[in-house]
Amino acid sequence: MPAEPAHVIVGASLAGAKAAETLRAEGFAGPVVLIGDEQERPYERPPLSKGFLLGKDDKSSVYVHEEGWYADHDVDLRLGVAARSIDRVARRVGLADGSSVSYGKLLIATGASPRRIRVPGADLDGVLYLRSVGDSERLRAALQGGGRVVMAGSGWIGLETAAAAREYGCDVTVVEPEPGALHRSVGPELGEVFAGLHRSHGVVFRFGEGVSQLRGSGRRVSAVVTSSGAELPADIVVIGIGAVPNAWLAADAGLDVDNGILADEALRTSDPDIYAAGDVANAFNSLLGRRIRVEHWGNALAGGPLAAKSMLGQQVSYDLVPYFYSDQYDLGMEAAGLPEPGNYDQVLYRGDRDSLEFIALWLSDGAVVAGMNVNVWDVNDDIQALIRSGLPVDPDRLTDPDVPLGEL
Ligand SMILES: Cc1cc2nc3c(=O)[nH]c(=O)nc-3n(C[C@H](O)[C@H](O)[C@H](O)COP(=O)(O)OP(=O)(O)OC[C@H]3O[C@@H](n4cnc5c(N)ncnc54)[C@H](O)[C@@H]3O)c2cc1C
Repeated sequence: MPAEPAHVIVGASLAGAKAAETLRAEGFAGPVVLIGDEQERPYERPPLSKGFLLGKDDKSSVYVHEEGWYADHDVDLRLGVAARSIDRVARRVGLADGSSVSYGKLLIATGASPRRIRVPGADLDGVLYLRSVGDSERLRAALQGGGRVVMAGSGWIGLETAAAAREYGCDVTVVEPEPGALHRSVGPELGEVFAGLHRSHGVVFRFGEGVSQLRGSGRRVSAVVTSSGAELPADIVVIGIGAVPNAWLAADAGLDVDNGILADEALRTSDPDIYAAGDVANAFNSLLGRRIRVEHWGNALAGGPLAAKSMLGQQVSYDLVPYFYSDQYDLGMEAAGLPEPGNYDQVLYRGDRDSLEFIALWLSDGAVVAGMNVNVWDVNDDIQALIRSGLPVDPDRLTDPDVPLGEL
């Protein structure tokens, strides 16, 4: 009897590792091959801009599974080798070492990479990015030396890095072409709350200004020139200007790609034997009724398993409420939904914004489309239930802290 074809997963990080776990948990007994181009076994990235960057969490805490888990579950984990091509006719994935692996079903979970800055001086020493555990180790070593840090970008990575840099005692300036912090992720109202938090910790923002040039002293960065012509002295420059999906493997194989790999609500790509999950997937979300590409931990955590079930022929629907969390200084928050400008017409609050203990709720036509609990806990499931319901809510009850969110 011919051997059962392997279920192959390209991308050995959170989505990929969780998919492998689910294939085994759901009883798939055939070969599972998990291919990753990093040397590390699958790990989680959120600590890389938080506890691990601050030296509070050690490396052992970032991994998705114990070292022996892959062998114990007969998962053929191949690290340090990139997938280079997919031959959809022969059903084989070509690897950078010249070998190839044949697949029955294939999951692409190749994630995203930091968007590179393309300005003169971009390749100077001391210009750093943050995506991998190695990046975080390099950045930590640089921040420990103190000095002047210029952060390009005030998204989540930018703000978390700014907070860590302040905790290391660095002077921090954030350069951001948008009019405020987190502008595209949470809109101006909440962006200002976060900018205020950082200002109170000594961070200087330069909104409406981009990085035009990086100047060096020898090979090392020494200053950032902004679009307004200002020259900011810098010992370290951290670039946090977004991420781009690693979709070229899929595009080269002729799969449909548009801001990530296009996938249906079963996380199937335009080839029914190839699936996509995590940061790289631009998948149809059946709850929101549109395709979304989400660069969130929760999306990889749940999306990998969903794709695995779909590979096994189970009926699944990608209907997750996008979920995100962040820690900065003493502030902890969780957010549900996508509160991007254009998705809402009103923001309401319950609790005290000044003391940074509140819930923000974004509404569209009277219904909650997103919510963020800041230093308030055990309410995110209720916020997600409100988003799922899609029903208009009474604004007075919504903002009344005495009315439990679960009773709305
Ligand atoms: C510093 C940092 C902090 C973050 N903090 C938070 C947070 O607080 N909250 C939150 O919700 N989200 C956070 N995120 C986002 C979250 O980590 C990502 O959404 C998550 O890692 C996505 O997982 P993934 O498995 O889809 O992709 P990735 O984690 O990007 O993994 C993809 C893997 O595939 C590999 N790969 C790519 N191409 C190939 C190839 N051709 N062959 C083989 N392997 C390949 C990559 O090297 C990588 O190992 C953070 C991200 C970063 C970088």
